[in-house]
Amino acid sequence: MSIKKDDIVKVLAGKEKGKSGKVLEVFPTDRRLSVEGLNIHVRFSRPKKQGEKGQRLELPAPLNVSKVMLVCPNCGQATRVGHEITPQGNLRKCKHCGKVM
Ligand SMILES: [Zn+2]
Repeated sequence: MSIKKDDIVKVLAGKEKGKSGKVLEVFPTDRRLSVEGLNIHVRFSRPKKQGEKGQRLELPAPLNVSKVMLVCPNCGQATRVGHEITPQGNLRKCKHCGKVM
């Protein structure tokens, strides 16, 4: 997975196509991620005690990684990610501007 938590991604397909947002959580095992404010599913929780109100919960449902593209913080474009193995670790590079992300 080349996308990490707190990255900005742009959605390429589905009902949120064209929108972008911050990655809240990444699920590498099923290659999905949840994005802040996107793909919101509303759930209602029932009141547990008498006199208590049910709650409206807005949860971002995970999107498939193949539906999003990473937005480069340097040039602001949705980009593919290049990888470079260095002694410091695996670096991610923007295919547009070539800068390390
Ligand atoms: Zn860039």
